[in-house]
Amino acid sequence: MTSVETLTVHGLGRVAEPYRDIVPPIHLASTFERAADGSYPGGRVYARDASPAYLEAEEVLRQLEGGAQSLLLASGHAAASAVLQALDAGDRVVAPHAMYWGLRKWLLELAEHGHIQLAFYDNTDLDDMRRQLAAAPTRLLWLETPANPTWEVADIEAASAMAREHGAMTLVDSTVPTPVLCQPLKLGADVVLHSATKYLNGHSDVVAGVLVTREDSPLWQRIRMMRALGGAVLGPFEAWLLLRGMRTLHLRVRAASASALRIATELEAHPAVAQVLYPGLASDPGHAIAARQMNGGFGGMLSIRVKGGEAAAREVAARVQVFKRATSLGSVESLIEHRASVEGPGTRCPDDLLRISVGIEPVDDLLADLRQALAA
Ligand SMILES: *Cc1c(COP(=O)(O)O)cnc(C)c1O
Repeated sequence: MTSVETLTVHGLGRVAEPYRDIVPPIHLASTFERAADGSYPGGRVYARDASPAYLEAEEVLRQLEGGAQSLLLASGHAAASAVLQALDAGDRVVAPHAMYWGLRKWLLELAEHGHIQLAFYDNTDLDDMRRQLAAAPTRLLWLETPANPTWEVADIEAASAMAREHGAMTLVDSTVPTPVLCQPLKLGADVVLHSATKYLNGHSDVVAGVLVTREDSPLWQRIRMMRALGGAVLGPFEAWLLLRGMRTLHLRVRAASASALRIATELEAHPAVAQVLYPGLASDPGHAIAARQMNGGFGGMLSIRVKGGEAAAREVAARVQVFKRATSLGSVESLIEHRASVEGPGTRCPDDLLRISVGIEPVDDLLADLRQALAA
């Protein structure tokens, strides 16, 4: 099989006739011609059902994750929605306490209005996960690892096996590790979700989402239908930009991971920092599992808790010069944010926490910026 790196650089390696384009053309058509006999010689009817615009990006992602099929959607949230809408009314979802804030809010909203039943487990506690799975028949186990914004690590292999024993399918939000560092389907997960807005695209200029399934199934066919009928399709230009961004995926992810480890290591010893949350640190409780299921790095995301509480943390964020103060993650430019105030009321995020998305700038520039911001 082609390596992950070569796959991201070359995509499917096809060249387009008649000019032998080295990069794929952008297919803008919303509709496709029907032949006199009523058939569709191009194999496409209408772009909401299936468009050549995103076939190549989908196929690259399918191969990167080692899955059977994949779907590109209009955002990470649209990908999650397609899965949740494909469930039956009242199906039970078991999700981690720490997870991407917007999706946690979405699950709570759906549960409040009776669309799903919902229970939470402690991210790092397999016994708690087992108790929640055993408490009532469960359709879907949700994993995110490392999990926003505290980067707890879950054991994908053990969790997927446990879910299967309890008749549940496992979905892994693998936005942060990307397929460069972790391939959840190979560890037994059923479906992988990405906010392609983040590392996969990598340049803060596309909002997109991806689902990849380990095997075709009736539920997967319903998920596919939720895109076609729910209508959250990605635009052709965004799909093309995503493919372009993915050409450098492995370089960006490895560079960010190496810099994040260096930053985490140095800040762990900094007198103004109370705690560094990063699974790459040997002192991190999730380190051993992360080392086993991640390959070649621990990702570019870390958080620091600043001594002096919320005010001190916000002052550090106010002083950065190289980092940008912005939400989101996984882009070439480094970002920092006071996470609790972004999440707002109901947040579980400590108010002294700064979330850091490490980009691909030289790590010495990033460290110098953080040191001067922490010095006051
Ligand atoms: C951003 C993000 C999402 C949501 O994706 P959107 O593309 O913003 O809809 C989901 N999970 C994780 C881990 C994220 O970082």
